[in-house]
Amino acid sequence: MRKFIVATRNKGKLKEIQEILRGFQVDVISMEEAGIFKDIEETGTTFEENAMIKAKEVLKLTGEIVMADDSGLEVDCLDGAPGIYSARFAGEGASDEDRNNKLLSMLQGVELEKRTARFVCAVAVVFPDGREFTVKGICEGYIGFEPKGTNGFGYDPLFYMPEYNMTTAQMKSEDKHKISHRGRALKKMVEEFKKIDLDRGI
Ligand code: IMP
Repeated sequence: MRKFIVATRNKGKLKEIQEILRGFQVDVISMEEAGIFKDIEETGTTFEENAMIKAKEVLKLTGEIVMADDSGLEVDCLDGAPGIYSARFAGEGASDEDRNNKLLSMLQGVELEKRTARFVCAVAVVFPDGREFTVKGICEGYIGFEPKGTNGFGYDPLFYMPEYNMTTAQMKSEDKHKISHRGRALKKMVEEFKKIDLDRGI
């Protein structure tokens, strides 16, 4: 089975990617399992650029097919913040809870209708023979008024989806994957894979 390295050190993301790609004919392995412990600097200005930077760096180190996801939360009334800075929103060493508290305090007094937000996920895939592509998935919702639910990770306890009347942290993981930014991006990635020969020229 073709080895396929996921360029992330985020355990929540890795778990979701492994769950979503279960059943697909690739051996999904983490950076750590591939012996790479490097923190890759995200110097891009878009989700796509950052995903590509991470994927190319890990390809250089391993020579294997690599996929990287760069994702984050865009809040409309904050002009799209935290956006590509979602992981660093409350500074280095901060926890998910710190970031969620910071977001809640910035939205104090903002009514639900104006708390529109979206999760965005760009996935970059690079091959040892130089082929590469990116795909993107989006999930629209609102920022709630207090954390709810314990599933998922990151901003999930605050990400409220009115059509399900729950946050993404209250959803079962298989339900989140069907509608999430990451689930949608990975579905597009799998569609791209169906069009190409994974073993060509490697
Ligand atoms: P990065 O892609 O490693 O730069 O990190 C993206 C950050 O966005 C994560 O650390 C989370 O804080 C947030 N994020 C991305 N996807 C999700 C998700 O599915 N649920 C909750 N938070 C997410």
